[in-house]
Amino acid sequence: MAEKVFANCHSPPSLRKDLFLKQSLLFPRESLMYYNKNMDGRDMDNGASDYQRMRDAMVDNQLIPRGIKDPRVLDAMRRVPRHLFMPEPVRYSAYDDIALPIGEGQTISQPYMVAIMTELLELKGEETILEIGTGSGYQAAILGELAREVYTIERLPHLAAEAVSRLAELGYDNVTVITGDGTKGLEERAPFDRILITAAAPEIPEILVRQLKENGIIVAPVGERYSQVLIKGRKSGGVLVEEFSTPCVFVPLIGEYGWRS
Ligand code: SAM
Repeated sequence: MAEKVFANCHSPPSLRKDLFLKQSLLFPRESLMYYNKNMDGRDMDNGASDYQRMRDAMVDNQLIPRGIKDPRVLDAMRRVPRHLFMPEPVRYSAYDDIALPIGEGQTISQPYMVAIMTELLELKGEETILEIGTGSGYQAAILGELAREVYTIERLPHLAAEAVSRLAELGYDNVTVITGDGTKGLEERAPFDRILITAAAPEIPEILVRQLKENGIIVAPVGERYSQVLIKGRKSGGVLVEEFSTPCVFVPLIGEYGWRS
């Protein structure tokens, strides 16, 4: 059993962010504009952006020490601009060791959670993946970096629309966002090599196991509404054989084969 992970834990902001925070209290709009303009741009020193340094620090300090090893996953986490997947007011925390609010009571998962779920999928590059719970679209972008094709379903239309425009702007043309109840899967594109559920399910819906290829992998947080274990199951002989689990906390999967509300 791996280390206990709380997706909503908090970590102290950096000194630099503290300065921005203090400044924002006095001049909220101006300092946010300054922060975004300068933190998005390039620095004088060798062209490396501040956000790139934050991403590298996230990988080096949060992911590698906790045992994430797959070099493709680590590279993707260094590349994808996580800060562009969240509302501007929380961007300064984009690379902190926490889940963050993205609106409508939903969250973008903690970087470590994204990394471990991705690593558990054992992606080689040729897979077709179904993700349930698009949220910000960040996890879908990571999957888009590592697999051939990604279908991702979000039940809240506003979040789905935002994810569509972000993913398009960043050029993820192998990721398709669908608005709807992901607990039913996506029959018309099945079977999938991998299925990832990024919201807490009371159990893995049988309909999703049917939409998974033989030897395919499904990863999902399963359990109670406010505490779950991360399950990795491989389909063998038509049934799902559980291989891995670690404690976690996700927002609920709401739908016909999930929680009812
Ligand atoms: N993967 C996301 C990201 O990278 O930002 C984070 C996912 S967030 C923890 C869980 C998401 O699942 C929420 O956006 C929520 O609206 C969505 N969700 C919950 N039930 C769903 C369902 N039945 N079908 C599709 N999406 C669902």
